[in-house]
Amino acid sequence: MIVDAHTHMQAAIHGVTPDPGRRKMTHLLMWNYELLGFNNPLWRGEPPEWGRIIIAMEGQLRISQGCRENLLRYMDRNGIDRSVVCPVAPFATPRAYLDICAGEPRLIPFTCAHPSQDWEGGLKEAMQGGCKGLKIHNILQRIPPEDPFWFAVLEAFAPYGRPVQMHSGEFDYYIVKDGYAPYGDTLRFEKLIAAFPQVPFILVHSGLYFPDKALELARRYENVYLETSFQPQKVVRKALSVAGRDRVMFGSDWPESDSKYALRIARRVAGEDAALLDKLTGGNILALVS
Ligand SMILES: [Zn+2]
Repeated sequence: MIVDAHTHMQAAIHGVTPDPGRRKMTHLLMWNYELLGFNNPLWRGEPPEWGRIIIAMEGQLRISQGCRENLLRYMDRNGIDRSVVCPVAPFATPRAYLDICAGEPRLIPFTCAHPSQDWEGGLKEAMQGGCKGLKIHNILQRIPPEDPFWFAVLEAFAPYGRPVQMHSGEFDYYIVKDGYAPYGDTLRFEKLIAAFPQVPFILVHSGLYFPDKALELARRYENVYLETSFQPQKVVRKALSVAGRDRVMFGSDWPESDSKYALRIARRVAGEDAALLDKLTGGNILALVS
C-alpha cells in the first residue's frame, strides 16, 4: 500500500481563493526542481530573491488547487492508495476537515489547533471523530515553536498516542515577505520534542532548504521522524543513515508538489530493497496512524 504522509486540502494561506477548476499544476520554477529530482545546480539552499518570489507565486497557485476531487485525481494518477491530509488552523477547523474527509477511506485526516478557536473542544471532537494526528505549522499559523500554547496543546494531545506533523524549514509563503519564516527553524522545535518523548514528531520536508538541522534532531531524539518532500536522493539517503529505516517516509506536500516526483525519489533510493521501499512509501507512516 502506497501512502503519501503529507498532503493538504483547502487554502492554508491568506489571499488564496480555492480554485477546484484549476486541474493542472502550475509549472514554473518549482517544476524545475521537481524535474531535476530536487537537485539544484544553480545555488545551494535558499534561492535568490527573484527565485523566491517565483516559487511563492507558484506555491499560491498550486495551493488554490487543493480540494478533495483534485487530490483524489492526483492520487489515482500517481498510484497512491491513501493520503494523510492536514488542516492548518485558523484557515481550517477540525470539524470542517472531518466533514471534507467523510466517507472517503483513502483520506487519513489530521487535526489542528489555534488559540483563536475553541481548540480544546476541536481537538476532542477531531480525535473522537477519527483524526489520526495533529498538524503544527509555525510559519503559517504565526505562533513560534517555543510558545506555551504548543506545550498546552501537546499536554492535551499526547494521551491519544498519535503523531504530530510539523512543518520544518524556514520558508516565505508570500510574494512579499511576512517575516514569520524564522518560526520554521527546525532547531527551535527541540524543547517541544524533548518535552514529549512519547509523541512521534514527523518533521515534514526534513528541514527544506536546511536538512542538516532536521537530521540533527533525528540524531538526538528517537521520537523524530523525517518526511522527505522536496529533498533529493542524497538527503533521503543521509536521512536513512541517521534515523534508520523505520523513521523516514515519503510525503509530497500536495498540492505544493506533484506527488509523482517525491515518490520517484523514494523508489530510486530503495532500489532493489523491497522491504525498505515498503517502509518508505507507506509502512512507516501506517505504523503511526493505524
Ligand atoms: Zn504541510
